Amino acid sequence: MKPQLILLGAPGSGKGTQAARLVAELDYNHLSTGDLLRKEIKSESELGKKVQGIMDAGKLVDDDTVLELLNANCDLGSNVYIFDGFPRNGEQAKALDSVVLKDAKSKAVYFEIDLDMLAARLTNRRTCSGCGEIYNLLSKAPSKEGVCDKCGGELTQRKDDNEETVKTRLQVFKETIDPVLAHYEATGRLARIDASQDPESVFGALKAVTEA
Ligand code: AMP
Repeated sequence: MKPQLILLGAPGSGKGTQAARLVAELDYNHLSTGDLLRKEIKSESELGKKVQGIMDAGKLVDDDTVLELLNANCDLGSNVYIFDGFPRNGEQAKALDSVVLKDAKSKAVYFEIDLDMLAARLTNRRTCSGCGEIYNLLSKAPSKEGVCDKCGGELTQRKDDNEETVKTRLQVFKETIDPVLAHYEATGRLARIDASQDPESVFGALKAVTEA
């Protein structure tokens, strides 16, 4: 049985890109708390209205709200998940174990990368509004500007991928990641991979973690 996989890493470290491949090739289900929250904003739900300003500013939404949303969207009985964007602090790491994972086998993978590389990656990130394919205007540009190579969908920029919000998001990451890493290290579940490698090599390293 494959482990439930917890992807840890700064915004822009490549978690989303790799998660898409794990879903396509290894039958994982992708659970991104950022995606779940953006869905709430798009549907103009009460929850969406509550979190919009916080997300636009690049700050963290409160733990209870995100945990509840996560729990409502996962069924560990019959699925293997990639947790992407959760946990974001020590409290969330503890809650993920006690409320969601319980006795399920799990591993955490830290995408190690020099944070100074990430601001440019994030401001140049574009996502297909049709199929979700992720592009980067510097390293993986679409052949036709603004159009997805895969499905012809429109490429959009996330609202929080602007220079100022990116700065806050990276700062928040720096201030909150250490207790999360310590939690998984202390429980013998932490693997570290070099996320500055090409995506193929990162995927190879990730696959090895799921098989170990
Ligand atoms: P992401 O898509 O993971 O980069 O998340 C985008 C934004 O959603 C973050 O900047 C936070 O405002 C919010 N968010 C996502 N996941 C969490 C979480 N686990 N805890 C708190 N806020 C979160």
